[in-house]
Parts: sequence; structure tokens; C-alpha cells
Amino acid sequence: MEKHNNVHEMAVRLWNHYPERVKLNEPLRHYTTYKVGGPATALCFPANTEELQDILSLCHQENVPVYILGSGSNILVHDKGIDMVVIRLSECCSEIRHKENIVYAGAGLLVSQLVEYCERNDLAGLEFMSGIPGTVGGALRMNAGAFVGEIGDRVVSIDAMNYSGELIKMSGEEAGFGYRRADRLQDKIMLGCELRLLSGNRAELEKSRRDYLAQRASKQPLDYGSCGSVFKRPPGNYAGTLIEKAGCKGMRIGGAMVSPKHANFILNYHNARASDIYQLICEVQRIIYEKFEIWLELEVKLLGFSDEEEKKVRQPE
Ligand SMILES: Cc1cc2nc3c(=O)[nH]c(=O)nc-3n(C[C@H](O)[C@H](O)[C@H](O)COP(=O)(O)OP(=O)(O)OC[C@H]3O[C@@H](n4cnc5c(N)ncnc54)[C@H](O)[C@@H]3O)c2cc1C
Repeated sequence: MEKHNNVHEMAVRLWNHYPERVKLNEPLRHYTTYKVGGPATALCFPANTEELQDILSLCHQENVPVYILGSGSNILVHDKGIDMVVIRLSECCSEIRHKENIVYAGAGLLVSQLVEYCERNDLAGLEFMSGIPGTVGGALRMNAGAFVGEIGDRVVSIDAMNYSGELIKMSGEEAGFGYRRADRLQDKIMLGCELRLLSGNRAELEKSRRDYLAQRASKQPLDYGSCGSVFKRPPGNYAGTLIEKAGCKGMRIGGAMVSPKHANFILNYHNARASDIYQLICEVQRIIYEKFEIWLELEVKLLGFSDEEEKKVRQPE
């Protein structure tokens, strides 16, 4: 990876300023569910929004690229790592409260914490998200969903910040939620959101949560590192069905394998490198395109990959 002096200088500057909140050259494999990925020049854990604002405005002034990391459950980080300032909001945006049926959830909270909070307070409408291993911020950015819904269906408003550190308030409609995307959130940092829930019954909500978790455990290979579904659903079809029909289940490159249990999961089966997973993604796309003339679009986000590598997975050659 080509290192840029201004990123390195900024990393050291941030580390001098917040020695307990900044790690230099920190391997990102510790912060992704794939458990792969090289180091970030700096990984910051701001303690509050003022610190976040400070880090962002310093980086903005010096033109230093910033990346926001949630739980790392939908990203594949290159083995070489990334020459950027990476910010994780787990320490600073973890507020949760509710008034009547409106819940405010900080972006750094885990989806599981949000679902359990709703359950404890007899609030229904997010049980289907049980088992999604990301943060609220990542769920908003991805419009995460499962079974019967997506988080975007419940969003009333979003508190965000732009990359120069200015606060922004948006309504749910303004976010541009679509299938696994939120078009107008791409250039923003989620801080928290208000969600409209329904009144529910704790015991029923608990049962529903357990049922969803059991369904996941029966269908998904949860014992290995993964990013969940690698590919989006192509129109009128399912990526997993196509991959299975093409006979790709169990296919391996290095330590990566197409799950024999759920064909849309590519696993870190045995000490995989990000390059193994990437190559297997390319191979599956090529096979599906040859057999069905369908190009599978990635749901997982690549981080630290070259333009050439990004282009290869975006469209057939
Ligand atoms: C076993 C497994 C099962 C899964 N099941 C599902 C499922 O059923 N449905 C589903 O939709 N997904 C599923 N996923 C994928 C993943 O959990 C979701 O996409 C999740 O919403 C990602 O959240 P995250 O916090 O991990 O985000 P990350 O993976 O860290 O980041 C994803 C994107 O969000 C951005 N981002 C994260 N936080 C913020 C923020 N605060 N502000 C701005 N941008 C931000 C990142 O920059 C990146 O672009 C699954 C993953 C695994 C490993």
C-alpha cells in the first residue's frame, strides 16, 4: 500500500492529542466479522461527538481521508490495510431512550442491544432484525433488513454529521432508503436515529426474537467468519439459489469457501486472506454470469482495494 505522508502525520497528531483513543497501524482484522484485513494508519475511538467533530475537522483541513467503521460485519478489508484515519463510534454514540413509541438509538449501539431494549419496553416492530451483527449506524447506512422488513421502514429522523464536522438532521424520507442502500446517507456519518415502533408484548417479542435467531442458526453458517450475504438479490431471483444451481457450494480458494450450508455466504473457512475471499467472489461472479447471464452485485463493501479490483467486481469484463 502506498503511504501518504499527510495521513501518517495526521495519525501521529491525533495519537498525541488522544493517546488513549487512537491506535496507530492497528490491524482491522480484529474489527471485522470476516477476521481478515491489514492495518489502518490510525484507528480512533472518539469518546463523544465533540471529539468526533475535532478529529473530522482536523482531517478535513488537511485533506486526510476518513472511513467510518461500525461492527465491520459488511466489509472486506484488503490484506494490505488502508492508509486512512478510521473512526469507530462504539464509545461515543451509544445512547438509547424512548418516549411513548419513539425510540432514539445511537449509531454506535449494536442492533442486538436495540432489539433487546425494545423488547424490555414492550415496543414491537424491529424483532426481524434479531441476529444482524452490526451497529445501528451500519444498519442505517446499509438499510439492513431481513425476513419481513428493513430498518428504513421505521426511521423517523436521523442525526448525522458531514465529513467536515457539521451536524445535520434529516427525516427518514430524505435518507433515500432502498434495497440495501440509503442513497443520501453515503456522504454522511450517522450519529443516531429516531424510530417509530408499535406497542407490543414483552413475552411475545422475546418469542419472536428467539424464533428469528433459531431460523438464522438453522440456515446460516454462523461458526465461521463471514459478512452475511455477499451478493444482493438480483431482480426476480436469489443469489444463493443461482450459486447453488451452478454447483458452487463448497468451492474453495485458499482459506475461503462458498458455504455448503448457505450458498450466498463466502466463509473465512481456514485462515483465509482477504485476497482468497476476493478471488472467490470474482470466480463465483464469473461462473454465474457464464451460466445465467446475471451479474451478481456485491452487498459486501470492499475497503482498501484498487480501482482495478473494484472495477472487476462491478461489471463483467
Ligand atoms: C452472520 C451475518 C449475518 C448477517 N445478516 C444480515 C441480514 O440479515 N440483513 C442485513 O441487512 N445484513 C446482514 N448482515 C450484514 C451486516 O451485518 C449489515 O450490513 C450491518 O448493517 C452492517 O453494520 P456494521 O455496523 O457492521 O457496518 P460495517 O460493516 O462496519 O460498515 C458497513 C458500511 O456502513 C458504513 N457505516 C457504518 N457505521 C456508520 C456510521 N455510523 N455512519 C456512516 N456510515 C457508517 C461503513 O462505512 C460501511 O460503508 C449480516 C452479516 C453477518 C456477518
